[in-house]
Amino acid sequence: MDYSVDKGWHNAVIQPYQNIEISPSAQVLHYGQAVFEGMKAYRQGESIVLFRPEENFKRMNRSNARLNIPEVDGECLLEALKQLVALEKDWIPEGEGESLYIRPFVIATEPHLGVHAALEYKFMIILSPVGAYYGDEQLMPTRIYVEDEYVRAVRGGVGFAKAAGNYAASLAAQTRASELGYQQVLWLDGVEQRYIEEVGSMNIFFVIDGKVVTPELNGSILPGITRKSIIQLAEHLGYEVEERRISIEEVLDSEHISEIFGTGTAAVLSPVGFIKYKEREIKISGGQTGSITQHLYDQYTGIQAGTIPDPFGWRVEVPVT
Ligand code: PMP
Repeated sequence: MDYSVDKGWHNAVIQPYQNIEISPSAQVLHYGQAVFEGMKAYRQGESIVLFRPEENFKRMNRSNARLNIPEVDGECLLEALKQLVALEKDWIPEGEGESLYIRPFVIATEPHLGVHAALEYKFMIILSPVGAYYGDEQLMPTRIYVEDEYVRAVRGGVGFAKAAGNYAASLAAQTRASELGYQQVLWLDGVEQRYIEEVGSMNIFFVIDGKVVTPELNGSILPGITRKSIIQLAEHLGYEVEERRISIEEVLDSEHISEIFGTGTAAVLSPVGFIKYKEREIKISGGQTGSITQHLYDQYTGIQAGTIPDPFGWRVEVPVT
């Protein structure tokens, strides 16, 4: 679908995956006006199930607004997405944990060398089947490296948006982490580099004295849809949930933290087994998956898979004809 100032969004088409042509002067290539989303569709018998898709489109429009990209009608996008996944139903794997990954994104295509909000854009959705994140169905605790030099986002910046540039800015730290044997980067706040923000592609939760605690949204953390859903689910299951600032000292020195886990569309819930900060490395839950993490994972994936009733109305079923 294309955008121009005179026509607004127009030319919505579904076509086979193919290369696209953009000008070498397209603004996205120079000034980084690009926003994306990530979501999944599941095949369950004769239905396709989307999970809270309206949340992704709402978040995309918040990202768009921050990057001065025109709003896209969320209802129209949901309708388009339903048509698209129904058409591609044969590509959606049916195994446990398998899904169709959905990547909506918008880029500035106006050919113009000079910094201004572009006058032309392209919105696209691409799809790819993905296997189960945990191959053998066992949750695998991850090793996390706390970045103490670079920051991912600052207050007033674009941290809350799913802006492509946020990921470009995180790559050097990600490379350093993997060279040191860690799978994910844990980002600290951009002011004092002291308070926990989020992991490279996940939000983060701590079990402190039996309470489920996560950093409060402060404008620089991405408001994850899994984060929001896990907060609702944990409360529903009777856990006490708290959103507040958590310092790195609290994480390193607290004897009260029994579990840590990340949340995101790809992994759903990922237990954290080890955290490395400067010279120190600490082990969480004996490097194993904690019982609250496992409980939330089982309940959440059960709701997604339709094996546990969905009291929240999160599942959006798409009829397949
Ligand atoms: N933080 C970042 C930086 C991410 O890229 C993601 C993945 N979208 C998340 C958190 C988790 O968000 P969600 O639960 O919506 O996938």
